[in-house]
Amino acid sequence: MSSDPAGTIYDIQGFSVQDGPGIRTTVFLKGCPLRCPWCHSPESRRFDIQLSWQSRRCIGTAVCGLCLVSCPRGAIVPAEGSQSTDTEDGLQLIRVDWDTCDDCGLCAAECPAGALSMWGKRYTVSEVVDRALRDRPFFEKSGGGVTISGGEPLSQAEFTLALLRALKENGLHTALDTTGFAPWAVVEKALPHVDLFLLDLKNMDGRAHNAAVGVPNQPILENARGIAAAGGKMQIRIPVIPRFNDSGGNLRALGKFVAELGEAVTLVQLLPYHALGVPKWERIKHDGPILEATAPSDKKIGELKAILEEYSLTIQVH
Ligand code: SF4
Ligand code: SF4
Repeated sequence: MSSDPAGTIYDIQGFSVQDGPGIRTTVFLKGCPLRCPWCHSPESRRFDIQLSWQSRRCIGTAVCGLCLVSCPRGAIVPAEGSQSTDTEDGLQLIRVDWDTCDDCGLCAAECPAGALSMWGKRYTVSEVVDRALRDRPFFEKSGGGVTISGGEPLSQAEFTLALLRALKENGLHTALDTTGFAPWAVVEKALPHVDLFLLDLKNMDGRAHNAAVGVPNQPILENARGIAAAGGKMQIRIPVIPRFNDSGGNLRALGKFVAELGEAVTLVQLLPYHALGVPKWERIKHDGPILEATAPSDKKIGELKAILEEYSLTIQVH
């Protein structure tokens, strides 16, 4: 085991206020074992570093075209027809043949406009800690800290555990944003170094859960019980996804389960589905399917919130 292990990270965001208490630095790890069709960070799903293509940044092949000659596999071609050959200002754009691309990154290294770039970079634990410590004054003033998110951070277990340990050794508050889908042995090792778990719970119906996201809910529920029994603190996050988990029956089952976790749960957050992440799917090679649905109404969210409140839970709508 390395004394300074490295992990694959796709973003580090300072001044985050959505991922736990106070002002936070959030570290987003690549790779997730779940396949949620509503994922709003599809760039987080694969574990490897991958190519991203953003058409709006391209300055066109007439003045540039460097990517066309840089690709050793011929995976970049001028866009045609329905692939939006021309933008409104008449630029000839390119198209990535995702089946041929092997994410070597040569085109991204050449692209002067950042239209082609790579999602993901290797960082060591000490590099991330140094980055986080730059924000320490803001953590101290706001009661914030560092959140490790993803993807599923517990899938890069060696890196995440070492990072959590190092952050605590530096006196920083830690939050772990997790799907909960990880071996209990890993969760147990994380527990002493996590001040707050941000744990997603989606559907109490195991078959529906497995069918939609590709993994069973049983290990997630068992981990939630284990964290509570070990004295850990949790914010429970429930994404509200049309036709998947927005029934009154599911919310009652979730409410009952969460209430049984007792004082371990400090807050329950309802996260209504939105389609803002859908355009991101077009930027990468992906293994859909992609959910495109109408966001739940305020009335619907109000009804679901009222159901959870019957279980004496503190609810926040994000
Ligand atoms: S990342 Fe893909 S498209 Fe870019 S040069 Fe490599 S193979 Fe070609
Ligand atoms: S290198 Fe970048 S800016 Fe130039 S044509 Fe290719 S994608 Fe567009």
